[in-house]
Amino acid sequence: MDLSELGEFGLIDRIRGWVPRGSASLGIGDDAAVLPLGELVSIVATTDALVADVHFRLGWSSPADAGFKAVSANVSDVAAMGADPRWILVALIAPKDTSADVLEGIYEGLIEGCGRYGCELVGGDTTTGPALTLAVTALGILDGDGLTRSGARPGDVLAVTGPLGLAACGLSLLYSKDPAGLSPEDADACLAAHRRPVAKADEGASMRRAGVVSACLDLSDGLLSDVRRLTEASGVGVEVDVEAVPVAPEVRRVCEVRGWDAERMALAGGEDFELLVTVPPDRLEEAGARLRPVGRVVDDGLWLMRAGEREPLPEGGWDHFRR
Ligand code: ADP
Ligand code: MG
Repeated sequence: MDLSELGEFGLIDRIRGWVPRGSASLGIGDDAAVLPLGELVSIVATTDALVADVHFRLGWSSPADAGFKAVSANVSDVAAMGADPRWILVALIAPKDTSADVLEGIYEGLIEGCGRYGCELVGGDTTTGPALTLAVTALGILDGDGLTRSGARPGDVLAVTGPLGLAACGLSLLYSKDPAGLSPEDADACLAAHRRPVAKADEGASMRRAGVVSACLDLSDGLLSDVRRLTEASGVGVEVDVEAVPVAPEVRRVCEVRGWDAERMALAGGEDFELLVTVPPDRLEEAGARLRPVGRVVDDGLWLMRAGEREPLPEGGWDHFRR
């Protein structure tokens, strides 16, 4: 069996079996590891690599955009644990012919990203390799228990922190290379979401402090895919109300002009970096962030609700190894 059959998530499941359990309160399987330092404080650690021509394309994004995005993607996983992001390390892998200007631009973006989230860049590694790669590690601090993927209970409301589909729509616009008929503001909003996504760092930390969120993960691969991760970890099912999924208005308008499926963009598109949470229904107001309900946790099964009828939740979302 090769990776294209196993898939990204199949591989991670196998890796879990290969790696012995250690001292972490939470190891492989959540958005980030939780490493206890004492009774009260833990370090939260995560790593995510951005590879040229897989996660970004120079030409479609500036080097600074790539640096900023690498920080956001990592901070997003720290935020999904409800931790405060603090430190960033960067392993930079660059082909020998990479220009110094490109590298300087990447660092401008990394530093800008760090500034946005109150992080410091404290180290990394430098080596050569076939594709420009930013392998970033983010460390955060948690005083108390973190938000996990595994606490969702039947009856909880499923909710997101913001509108979906912008980044996927931006990427589709870059592929289509055709600005005809689009409002420049709408196109720019989509392109900016793809090039410079912003992680919900404050929302993650404030939701944890509010103490009412039962489960949380960040939307990096798309709602359809990520909601499966949450239900698998929690051992529950879910109903997603398709009419309630907040499609960004810019996405609706761009899709209207282009004849694209805005609903699919919001459901299956990746890199929104919003947080997906579950909250007991009577505590939604106390969650500590503005939440938009998109469904509910049920005992079992994965369902899409359309006009009050259940349909099986479609497959969708991003898997790096699937053909
Ligand atoms: P996310 O999309 O939130 O970044 P991933 O799907 O990349 O999460 O990873 C899920 C979990 O698997 C995380 O806990 C991550 O640390 C772990 N993981 C992913 N790849 C590896 C690997 N190669 N070795 C060990 N753990 C891994
Ligand atoms: Mg994540």
